[in-house]
Amino acid sequence: MRLTIVGGCGYVGVITGLGFAELGHDVVGVDADEAKVEAYTKGKPLIFEPGLEEALRRALDQGRIKFTTDLEAGSRDADVVFVAVGSPAGRGGTADLSQIEAVALGLSQVVGHRTVIAIKSTVPVGTADRMRKVLESGRRAGASVDLVVNPEFLQEGRGYHDFFHPTRIVVGGGTDWARATMRRLYDPFTGSGEAEASAVDMAHGVPLIETSITDAQIVKYASNAFLATRLSFVNEIAAICERVGGDVAAVVEGLGHDPRIGKMYLQPGIGFGGPCLEKDLRALIESSRQYDYTPSFLEAVLERNQLQVDSVLEKARRLAGGRFDGKRVAVFGLAFKSGTNDVRTSLSMRIMQSLMREGAVVCGHDPVAIAEACEMLPDASYESDPYEAARDASALLVLTDWPEYRELDYERIGNAMQGRNIFDGRNLLNPAEMVRLGFTYLGVGR
Ligand code: NAD
Repeated sequence: MRLTIVGGCGYVGVITGLGFAELGHDVVGVDADEAKVEAYTKGKPLIFEPGLEEALRRALDQGRIKFTTDLEAGSRDADVVFVAVGSPAGRGGTADLSQIEAVALGLSQVVGHRTVIAIKSTVPVGTADRMRKVLESGRRAGASVDLVVNPEFLQEGRGYHDFFHPTRIVVGGGTDWARATMRRLYDPFTGSGEAEASAVDMAHGVPLIETSITDAQIVKYASNAFLATRLSFVNEIAAICERVGGDVAAVVEGLGHDPRIGKMYLQPGIGFGGPCLEKDLRALIESSRQYDYTPSFLEAVLERNQLQVDSVLEKARRLAGGRFDGKRVAVFGLAFKSGTNDVRTSLSMRIMQSLMREGAVVCGHDPVAIAEACEMLPDASYESDPYEAARDASALLVLTDWPEYRELDYERIGNAMQGRNIFDGRNLLNPAEMVRLGFTYLGVGR
């Protein structure tokens, strides 16, 4: 098929485009950002995702993917136009749909043939209907656009892998023709895989869930709200463990073997941030309010998350002797989670800002996200060597779950620091070992 991905140089866009190119489709990534288009055209990925660079090279070498800023040329003759532009947090937490609206207007002016428009971006209920109105109001002769909502569930840091191993495919709305087109596109995933001897390592027999257009929009928000709920839940249990002398890891072990519960998303930490969980939870709360409903349970999940961030700051203060007053604090981990260089709405960045506001001198380290962090928070200092980042620090905060932080020489780190004080926000380290090395150690729920 001929596929167009609008927002084709973003996280979701580029992974989707390269995934479909690998499956043999002809893909055009349309993006408004010229610098990104230039980088991807030269084979230089701008995000850190395992497997992506090789996939980009392959797709470019085989002529399976192109990148352009030209929406008209890029969407010409497309069987499916995916919309994967951003839907960031807007004022008061509502989803800012300006990128989606710009794309709807743009497509209404340039599409002159029959095509499916598939919304991959996470958008609140009502967005697809608004987009349809815009598309229909400016429709060109010969154009017939058929809208579906096809939410994306990939996880950053393993996004390219997730493209080939989806747990389910949701397609909402659309005419019979649009649904048939989407079924055909996803057939390699949903089929048994016996017909085609694919060289690609991918999932087969994946459930295809066809819903109304409204339900497809809610599914994505409900998924992220549920994951956020699990994290707020386990952070609550961790806080109880801290007060009563329990160990949350043992509690989760005891909980998670129950198949009704499971172990995923039950790791306590510094709270949930990142480009999706918090923003989508807020957007769901705000869109519920617009429909005159106060989602008190979801509000509590969000409030509990803020308590977690507050508790990180309180522990950091405790380790620094009550006040920061110009003391150095080292932060290990800037990305919102390991495996990615994404610092957008990373809680590490928010915590660093609060530390600086309270008078700390902050030095950050991350295996891959220093450039991105520096762009977002230029007032902090950064070191690519973790031992240097820890130099003269009164406290060290480990905030991202990079496994390499387990492997560091903490004796050497302790020697570089002013005081051996460590907050392990991801429970990565062995507390007994840290205490043996003379650290005052604080973890989460242990
Ligand atoms: P992103 O900011 O990385 O990418 C968006 C891209 O769209 C950018 O490259 C931007 O330049 C481009 N763009 C903006 N306006 C445009 C326009 N008018 N025309 C063409 N291109 C335009 O965002 P993302 O993280 O890929 O997220 C995209 C959507 O997918 C969001 O709705 C997000 O909530 C959802 N989502 C994200 C993830 C994730 O892990 N990042 C996972 C699932 C769903």
